[in-house]
Parts: sequence; structure tokens; C-alpha cells
Amino acid sequence: AKKAGKNRFCVFDDEMDQMLLRRLELEKDMRGALERKEFYIVYQPKWNALTEKAVGFESLMRWPHPKFGDVSPSEFIPIAEETGLIIPMTRWVFSEVGKLLQQWMEKGVPLLPVSINVSVRLFESRQLIEMTRTLLESANLSPHVIELEITESMMLYDVKDMIRQLSELRSLGVRISMDDFGSGYSSLGTLDQIPIDTIKIDQLFIRESDSPAKRAIVGAIIEMALNLQLDLVAEGVETVEQIDFLRSSGCNVMQGYYYGKPMDVSEMDNWIARNMD
Ligand code: C2E
Ligand code: CA
Ligand code: CA
Ligand code: CA
Repeated sequence: AKKAGKNRFCVFDDEMDQMLLRRLELEKDMRGALERKEFYIVYQPKWNALTEKAVGFESLMRWPHPKFGDVSPSEFIPIAEETGLIIPMTRWVFSEVGKLLQQWMEKGVPLLPVSINVSVRLFESRQLIEMTRTLLESANLSPHVIELEITESMMLYDVKDMIRQLSELRSLGVRISMDDFGSGYSSLGTLDQIPIDTIKIDQLFIRESDSPAKRAIVGAIIEMALNLQLDLVAEGVETVEQIDFLRSSGCNVMQGYYYGKPMDVSEMDNWIARNMD
């Protein structure tokens, strides 16, 4: 028994080593990945099920790693946040989104808002307002086509400062969305003081919306958002049952594989031609 225990320990140790090595390698490779143009962005539609129209897109980073293959952003974004690389990476996302919107304008495609995920590091670095202003000016964009997605846990950083920066961003005209709502540290007590436009209901609640308890939570979030006059988006919508439930509860805007998976820029032209008039 002792031996087996020891073996198990070795396996565990090995796995830890593997994980640590992978992490170190990813961290090292990430440093040059921007210059080597290894990242690309995919865009996932947000859909209004009532009007049957696309109402926006979310930008999501992708990293096809030369050795490990596709690395999930759930793995590389936390590393980028720790190392600070998230700042130049997000700067790059801003410029790519600017290019995309400019191309749409040139083609005469009606502009839909595009959202960008921003981590707390961008607020700490105090570069976000300048980045947003530069994006709006460089592409000569109307500010309502840019939306920034933040998360509740960012309020742990410094609520007062967050509120100040968010207010300044909103005064530029961009929209702010609270991502993964209900999943993490809950900002319920201060939600009315945080300057946001939209709540995105975390996909966990949608995935488990066949459970009466989870349905009750979703129902409460929807009612609260409606009372606070916030817009709503449900994330991770995959089935007709989920759509029916959300619509009957008062949430009409959805994002998820049912309506569209994240697409690269070349796939988007096709999608837009099929889904927009
Ligand atoms: P998120 O912002 O909550 O993005 C939603 C995630 O759910 C995306 O995963 C998306 O591909 C996935 N998803 C969308 N619809 C469905 C569905 O119907 N079913 C399921 N199972 N999943 C769905 P992804 O692209 O892997 O991104 C994971 C997370 O990484 C994001 O979560 C976000 O927190 C972060 N992330 C991605 N790109 C960026 C970025 O450019 N900057 C920052 N700061 N974070 C990013
Ligand atoms: Ca998001
Ligand atoms: Ca989310
Ligand atoms: Ca998430």
C-alpha cells in the first residue's frame, strides 16, 4: 500500500512538472507571439431572438501554438495577465477591431457593435481610456460601435477607481458590459453604482437551466436587470429549450453555439451576407 501511495505521488509529481513546464514554455513563447503574428481574433454574434437580428459581435483571441496546437484563451489569458503581456495583446485587439470596423464601413456593411474583453490589468495600467480614445479617433468611429466587457471580480481591485474609469469610458460614448454575471464575486450590493449598460448572464446558469434552482437564479437576474434598466445578454445558448426559457423570462438577446460559433474574419463576410439585410 505504501508503494502504491508513493507511485501515485510520483505520477502526480510528474503531472505537476509537465504543467509547470508547459506554463513556462507558453509564457516564454507568448513574449514573441505578437511580433510573429501568431494570434488571431474570432468574432461571435449576439442575436436578438425577438427581432431575429444580429445585434453585435464579441471579439475572442485565438492562439494556434506552433508546438502545442490551439491553446485555449482560458489557459493563456491568465498567464498574459500575470506577466502584463495582456496590455500589448489587448492593444493589438483594439487595433484589429478598428481595422474590421473600417473595412465594414468601406464595404457599406451596416456597423454592429463589437465588444472587446478587458482585464483588470488594463484599468490598473491606466492605458484603457487612451487606448479607447485612440481607437475611436483612428478609425473615425461612432463610439456606440465599441463595447467593453468587464467582470465583477474587477471590483475587488478598487471599486472607486473602477467607477471613475468606467464613467470616463462611458462619457466617450462606448458601452460597458458586465460579463459572466452571477458567477464570481457578486457585486450585487454596489451594482446600482457601477456605470454599466449591459449584464451578460454567465453561461453556467444557461447550461444548467433545466435545474429549477438555476432557473430561479436566471429569473432573478433578468428581473433585476430589467428593474435597473440594464440590457441583457444570455451567454452559451445551445438549445431551443434554453431559448424558450430565456424568452419567456424576458431575455431576448443571446449568444451561443445555437446562433453562431466564433468565426474568423473570412467566415464573417459569409455570415453577414446570410444574416443581415
Ligand atoms: P468569455 O468572455 O466569457 O467568452 C465566452 C466563451 O464561451 C468563449 O470561450 C466562447 O467561445 C465560449 N462560448 C460561446 N458560446 C458558447 C456555447 O454555446 N457553448 C459553449 N460551451 N461555449 C461557448 P473562449 O473563446 O475559449 O474564451 C474563454 C475566455 O477567455 C473568455 O470568456 C474571456 O474571459 C477570455 N478571453 C478570450 N479572448 C480574450 C481577449 O481578447 N482578452 C481578454 N482579456 N480575455 C479574453
Ligand atoms: Ca466576454
Ligand atoms: Ca462570459
Ligand atoms: Ca468566462
